[in-house]
Amino acid sequence: MSYQFFYIIFSLMVISAVLSLTFFMAWKNFGHEKHALTWAAAFLAGMLQWGCTVNVDLFPSLESYLLTETALSIAMITLGLRGHCQRTRCRHLPRNLWPCSVAVYSIIVWHILVSPHTGIRMSVVPFFAAITLGMSSYLIISFRQQTRPAEWAAAIAIAIFGVSQFGTGILAFMQGAVANESVRAVYLHFNFLTLPAGYIATSMLIILMMASDIAAQMREMAIKDQLTGLLNRRGFSENGERAFSAARRSDQPLSVIMTDIDRFKFINDKYGHAAGDTALAHFANLVSEDRRQEDIVARVGGEEFALLLPGTELRDAMAIADQLCKKIGATPLKTTVVGLPMTSSFGVAAISDNDATLDDMVLRADRALYRSKRAGRNQVDLESSQMLLAEDGSLQPLS
Ligand code: GH3
Ligand code: MG
Ligand code: MG
Repeated sequence: MSYQFFYIIFSLMVISAVLSLTFFMAWKNFGHEKHALTWAAAFLAGMLQWGCTVNVDLFPSLESYLLTETALSIAMITLGLRGHCQRTRCRHLPRNLWPCSVAVYSIIVWHILVSPHTGIRMSVVPFFAAITLGMSSYLIISFRQQTRPAEWAAAIAIAIFGVSQFGTGILAFMQGAVANESVRAVYLHFNFLTLPAGYIATSMLIILMMASDIAAQMREMAIKDQLTGLLNRRGFSENGERAFSAARRSDQPLSVIMTDIDRFKFINDKYGHAAGDTALAHFANLVSEDRRQEDIVARVGGEEFALLLPGTELRDAMAIADQLCKKIGATPLKTTVVGLPMTSSFGVAAISDNDATLDDMVLRADRALYRSKRAGRNQVDLESSQMLLAEDGSLQPLS
């Protein structure tokens, strides 16, 4: 091995070790994501593979070196794709992955031991890498509806690396059965020009992609209510403000329903806090099922929920609140033999010219809710359901 290639391979060995450690730490510290551990194993295999190449003289024969080095590189490639399958929850591919790898390895073993052919032996691994890199790139992009920027970056880098590996494969193959020296020189230069760059660029961008996964998880945790899975108050404000601005811009209707479970303290006191929690989840299910995708449903307080309905007129929102009120009263939670009855009170408001922000609108719905509580609970308050809040703040009959 010439010195320039020795330095590159030695660097790749060290980089693989560092990357293996990095992915292992990512697995340990960021929620034990399986794919992080798989990628740690992949780079461990990579480190061992480059380690073999650096210490080629220690092997008893060239064949034993080639068989070991190839097995490690195929393990690395397979684990790399497997990590992407795990991250994107792809179910079909992993089943066929290891049998495929064994088949690929068998071809190489055949061309090392039985029918030696330098071109085939050296081109199979880069071709296999090109295919798995292409698949990884596809998995990343097709994983979710809206691919995140870090995912695009990783997918594009992986795809480019895949193309360069395909080129490496072609040059390796062109060496023929007995290495043609001039083609071999071109192959080596192309390989060592593209491999380190591709190796480092893709792994760095995969780390960035994992960081973006964690950031997205944290964001989701910050705006979601753990108990019910609905948005929390913060999530409601963030999404609601956007819907409010959109309604303003396009002059579309927008309504809000505020609801608060009646005498919930009594449910807690009588059946216990755990039953109270189950009741909250049950209630959340009832209010969120049958909602449209654009509706924003949130738990904005202990036993207080909000529904923001874009494109919905006040009258329709009231009809929805009426339906929900009846449905909740008629659907007791089935924890006890008799069932745990629950009712809720509602207040409704629609966007008006006087509302400067979403809060103004929510405040009016809250007032309506308060009135429905005072009027005896388990209702969409008479005033709010059959009266309209006029510009001057007075209530007028809904015509
Ligand atoms: P009202 O009809 O006037 O709304 O009466 P209420 O009892 O529902 O209202 P109040 O505000 O007096 O009580 C709300 C209760 O909700 C008190 C609190 O312990 C309970 N609560 C708030 N958050 C949770 C929760 O996460 N789990 C459980 N189990 N209870 C909760
Ligand atoms: Mg209550
Ligand atoms: Mg309350």
